[in-house]
Amino acid sequence: MSNLEKEPPELVIDGEPPVAGAIEILEPRDVPLGGPRAMNVRRTLPQRHRSLIGAWCFVDHYGPDVVAGSGGMVVPPHPHTGLQTVSWLFAGEIDHRDSVGTHAPVRVGELNLMTAGHGIAHSEVSTDATTVLHGAQLWLALPDASRHTAPVFEHYTPPVVALPGASVRVFIGSLVGSTSPALTFSALVGAQLDLEPFSTVQLPVDAAFEHGVLLDAGTVSVDGDELPVAHLAYREPGRSTLQLVAGATGARLLLIGGEPFGESIVMWWNFIGRTHEEIVGFRDEWQTDVVGGATPEGRFGRVAGYAGRPLPAPELPGVRLKPRG
Ligand code: MN
Repeated sequence: MSNLEKEPPELVIDGEPPVAGAIEILEPRDVPLGGPRAMNVRRTLPQRHRSLIGAWCFVDHYGPDVVAGSGGMVVPPHPHTGLQTVSWLFAGEIDHRDSVGTHAPVRVGELNLMTAGHGIAHSEVSTDATTVLHGAQLWLALPDASRHTAPVFEHYTPPVVALPGASVRVFIGSLVGSTSPALTFSALVGAQLDLEPFSTVQLPVDAAFEHGVLLDAGTVSVDGDELPVAHLAYREPGRSTLQLVAGATGARLLLIGGEPFGESIVMWWNFIGRTHEEIVGFRDEWQTDVVGGATPEGRFGRVAGYAGRPLPAPELPGVRLKPRG
């Protein structure tokens, strides 16, 4: 989806050192998707003190949202650069169209991974049959060496791996013997875990990874710390098991992780770059080529089959920020 904040701040994100200590609980903030249809999302990344978990740089969690009341998700064509988007649903269905010619349904339990690389545009609309929309949109920052790669869209349905007390769907990377074939550009993991009531799971994880656990529903503790619903637990690298203990209703959660990213990035609206000037250039190209209709091809291409105007970029912030590091 698009970052539809009216005045998105430009964030300069350094490769952050892991924090000392065990579990850090990150609170979500409510962000309206805006427009005439006012669906809200809960954003846990980026935030002031924690912007990256591995290459994971954006976590929006939404629903269960009764579409009859909110209008659901209607995101017109908008651009991305320098990142990958992961769409993951718990309920409902989204119609995806992009400028590399993809027209695909986003369905429950299926990975839809869009690599923006040097530039892509896409639209996302919840389908007419959707009554409840519930899921997450996650972004991955591309390392400098890979961020100008050609855009591509991939689909993958992970098998459900049964563990004692839990089932696991691995949509990015490898976990519990299940490996996703989805294209990645740094060492990463992403999975849905469904924990049975009162189960205790000692999950084997890569000790070189930092990890995040987003609780979608139920009750869970992570390494002994209670995690409120819709919050994101962060854990630094260094240990090869992650302890998850479910309460009486079980728990559904998303696990994300990866090697500390180690690069500074500049993130504004739907773009990731390395400098302020680069972001300004991306915005200009979108506004001129696509919103203004100057160039049929160009960096972002065209989304075929969407009946409506592309999304104009917001105004740039008045301040100019430099990446550090
Ligand atoms: Mn998007």
